[in-house]
Amino acid sequence: MRRIAILGSTGSIGRSALSVIEAHSDRLQAVALAAGSNAALLCEQAERFRPALVSMASASALAAASTALRGTGTRIAAGGAAGLLEVATYPDADIVLCASSGTAALEAVLAAIEAGKTIALANKEVLVMAGGLMTEAARRRGVAILPVDSEHNAIHQCLAGRRCEEVRRLVLTASGGPFRGRSRVGLDHVGPEVALRQPTWRMGRKITIDSATLMNKGLEVIEAHWLFAMPADAIDVVIHPQSVVHSMVELVDGSILAQLGVTDMRLPIQYAFSYPERWASPLPGLDLTACGRLDFHAPDHQSFPCLGLAYQALRGPGGLPVVLNAANEVAVEAFLGGQLKFTAIPEVISRAMEAHDGGPVDSLEAVRAIDRQARARAREVAADLALKV
Ligand code: MG
Repeated sequence: MRRIAILGSTGSIGRSALSVIEAHSDRLQAVALAAGSNAALLCEQAERFRPALVSMASASALAAASTALRGTGTRIAAGGAAGLLEVATYPDADIVLCASSGTAALEAVLAAIEAGKTIALANKEVLVMAGGLMTEAARRRGVAILPVDSEHNAIHQCLAGRRCEEVRRLVLTASGGPFRGRSRVGLDHVGPEVALRQPTWRMGRKITIDSATLMNKGLEVIEAHWLFAMPADAIDVVIHPQSVVHSMVELVDGSILAQLGVTDMRLPIQYAFSYPERWASPLPGLDLTACGRLDFHAPDHQSFPCLGLAYQALRGPGGLPVVLNAANEVAVEAFLGGQLKFTAIPEVISRAMEAHDGGPVDSLEAVRAIDRQARARAREVAADLALKV
């Protein structure tokens, strides 16, 4: 039996993970769940899966869950960051699925690594912010970080059994988002409601906007760098609107290995839970004849400057990806709040990056300090640009 702790159980990845656990209840067990503010759903999950421990970020949600779960045998952890930490380091868990969104989970994931847990990672921000610290800690503790992000999961599958020197480059595929093929001018006046309509994958709001700006792919380039120890020059992005090929690996002899499958997050989640084994999946397989054609083309850096900014951050001094990520979160929030144009998102990020003055990223405190400064700077720039809407 593999015992799973889930950070972010009520989000889209968390719900998919519980459905994987339910489909493999003879091999998987949910032992600890952490969620944000959706007390009703967490209680429903707790009644169904009977975890030993649950926690919630919001104090009012925690109070509601405590009342509802009284007498059920499920223990309620503290609220907020302490509760997340408790779930991440729950002694009986073998695997910690990190699916809580944003940067709050950073400390929890590092603690899970220190506690010797296998990490199933769905939150790319934590690697973008502290990839060096995380991979170093994982190496030291002999802990595996298994990617749940579909592209990296595909690359992980393609790399199985390959030696480093056999690999020429990684090729991340991108759907291109809802604005694929649009000019920069054509994007000037798109609002949040249009940008939130994503054609292929159903996801949370932040990542949906990141898909529309291609920042999601930029963050994934940085994520791939840390997961697979490849330099920026050996990580390419191709637009592949059908999202059938989830990503590829090119070997030194020119062969390209690809992983194909249906677009369902339950597949990469199951792979991470079952690794290194392969288990039968209840999902229908991919019907190749129904896929029709598969297209691949180069990304449009003119319309989607965020991708280039991510490469720039990866090539620059250590703290620059922290700045990129922080400024992006601020800009996306301002865009979703109607205070910022879609096309101003990359401008906020680029100006925050210009203001970064370097410095080492050798501790969580250093990461937090750079993150704080970048957010403050990004808010200034966003306020400045908001006046011109
Ligand atoms: Mg992805």
